[in-house]
Amino acid sequence: MNKLLTAAVAATIGFSSAAWADSLTIGVSWSNFQEERWQTDEAAIRAALDAAGATYVSADAQSSSSKQLSDIESLIAQGVDALIVLAQDAAAIGPAVQAAADEGIPVIAYDRLIEDNRAFYLTFDNVEVGRMQARAVLEQAPSGNYVMIKGSPTDPNADFLRGGQQEVLQAAIDAGDITIVGEAYTDAWLPANAQRNMEQILTAQDNMVDAVVASNDGTAGGAVAALTAQGMEGIPVSGQDGDHAALNRIALGTQTVSVWKDARDLGRNAAEIAVQLAGGTAMADIEGVEMWTSPAGTEMVSMFLEPVPVTRDNLSLVVDAGWISQEALCQGV
Ligand code: BGC
Repeated sequence: MNKLLTAAVAATIGFSSAAWADSLTIGVSWSNFQEERWQTDEAAIRAALDAAGATYVSADAQSSSSKQLSDIESLIAQGVDALIVLAQDAAAIGPAVQAAADEGIPVIAYDRLIEDNRAFYLTFDNVEVGRMQARAVLEQAPSGNYVMIKGSPTDPNADFLRGGQQEVLQAAIDAGDITIVGEAYTDAWLPANAQRNMEQILTAQDNMVDAVVASNDGTAGGAVAALTAQGMEGIPVSGQDGDHAALNRIALGTQTVSVWKDARDLGRNAAEIAVQLAGGTAMADIEGVEMWTSPAGTEMVSMFLEPVPVTRDNLSLVVDAGWISQEALCQGV
């Protein structure tokens, strides 16, 4: 009996969901697994799949969009019943969604948009993350020269974040209080690339920089390294992800904010949704979904989780949430 049928029969005769989920395999295609946050996401996905009795298989594209396509082909060949995809390059991932659709395999666009309404879009509110980053920096630097360190140009989140940042900064820009003196995407979100971009902007501006809106904690780390080399550490810098190094920089005063997205929730949701989709539940019937229209006009079944800004004033929040221990938080202090 195929698995869909097994799931349907199990539901009809009242088996526990775990009984049919036992036979399910969920494949996860990571884009850049070396980054700290994805390891938290993975642990949450694994734990939730374990709890459902489903099997976890995965592959890491190591920031290569072509490797991601062959990774997904191989996950499909391994017989996965649903795919969770963290896309490396939004413009290159289409054939993978098509290949999954051809086999009737549901796809979750995990954290990053895949512009295809056959995919379920599960993420945090990334525009709001951008607003939170800019708000915290603007509070500390209401005037002066700003640098915008953006994310990867192949990741739609980079522009969602940048859009939210602009919304918050616009009034101060219009009033002539702040000026954006430098702006750069960060290839593959790599901290080393962010550092190089920041160094170049500092050189071009004769170090006349008052604040840095960096789009995640990795790039914030790169920017802070460039600032430190010039003795400028301590000017406002934003980030996101709640990386342990970033939380320590916040404790030390070299980073202003990390927008915390509890990746444990995103991972658990993805696993649970993947199991339901694999069992034949329609995307629109998943509890808590909303319809969302992308800037390009694609209507997607979506779920957005809420981000939380963490500054020096509310650092205890991440300790209380069990995200970081007090000892780990004090390492850099
Ligand atoms: C995610 C961030 C992450 C970045 C780099 C983005 O798409 O939303 O949380 O820091 O990718 O991996």
